[in-house]
Amino acid sequence: MNGSNSSAEVTRLQPGVVTGADYRTLVAHAKAQGFALPAVNVTGTNTVNAVLEAAAANRSDVIIQLSNSGAQFFAGLGLADAASARVLGAVSAAHHVHLLAAEYGVCVVLHTDHANKKLIPWVEAMIDEGEAHFERTGAPLFSSHMLDLSEEPLQWNLAESARILQRAAKIGMSIEIELGVTGGEEDGIGGEFDESADNARLYTQPDDVLQAYELLSPIGSFSVAASFGNVHGVYKPGNVKLRPEILKNSQDLVAQRHGNGPHPLDLVFHGGSGSEKEKIAQAVSYGVFKMNIDTDTQFAFAERVGAWVEANPRAFKYQIDPDDAKPYKSSYDPRKWLRAGEQGIVERLGEAFRDLDSTGKSLAG
Ligand SMILES: [Zn+2]
Repeated sequence: MNGSNSSAEVTRLQPGVVTGADYRTLVAHAKAQGFALPAVNVTGTNTVNAVLEAAAANRSDVIIQLSNSGAQFFAGLGLADAASARVLGAVSAAHHVHLLAAEYGVCVVLHTDHANKKLIPWVEAMIDEGEAHFERTGAPLFSSHMLDLSEEPLQWNLAESARILQRAAKIGMSIEIELGVTGGEEDGIGGEFDESADNARLYTQPDDVLQAYELLSPIGSFSVAASFGNVHGVYKPGNVKLRPEILKNSQDLVAQRHGNGPHPLDLVFHGGSGSEKEKIAQAVSYGVFKMNIDTDTQFAFAERVGAWVEANPRAFKYQIDPDDAKPYKSSYDPRKWLRAGEQGIVERLGEAFRDLDSTGKSLAG
């Protein structure tokens, strides 16, 4: 897959949501050129638009993703049926991105985040929607879905991933699987990180990756969220010991067995927020094409909204000031403080594009 594009002539893609062969071109190009794309978790149109704005401003392609709770929030927490809201919110967000992405002039990968065993019905319901969209337009709704069955026995994880990939591949979709466990608050690990504990589950085993490759690559396109000490969330410096060489070990084993170039695997970096820049660069050099970012963009949004409120405290208490009758409409208008939050995301993503070296490298043309 990679290495096919070594000439100066670079394939250009239509701006907008990319799926199928275009998605694979985008991934192969990033790996061949040694850069990665940020995958940003979104929760509403403010965060989606900020990501699109940032991608356009930095001439980078980008990955927009929703967690199950982010999708539910997108649909609205007033909906009583959470299972249905998780599907509807994801579909709503996808349609919003399909409608606008091309206007921003970049390529956008649409993806959904962690789905454990209990959330398999969520993924299958979204694939139902993807099939319907494929019937109408010839393309799926999402580029890929993540299936995170890393808490289950390996053989079950792989068999179920193969079953879902069979459905996804038919409509030009990819899946992301997880091998090993990403630490952090999702798994209740948030305190001291004890590397000497040698918790094998926190570090993906190359043999597991080889098994996944041999089972899944004949079926379709898939990526692997491999664990190399990464954690979700941001902790005090020193608590996270990243070992990107784990990624290289998996690439080397698969390449050695199957002789298909240095980076046969499409690798994904979870828990990228707060990571040391050199470890990010090292991970990318081993074939990581996607780094998830959520905590840092959440903070960037909140910090700016907080600053706005702090600078205009009376506007958040009074419509008209009781002392001097000053009207505060122009300060409490949500377009002012939500915009401040959006700008926080745009700025933070500028840094992410630089860290991942994707600035100026959009394939849209
Ligand atoms: Zn994750």
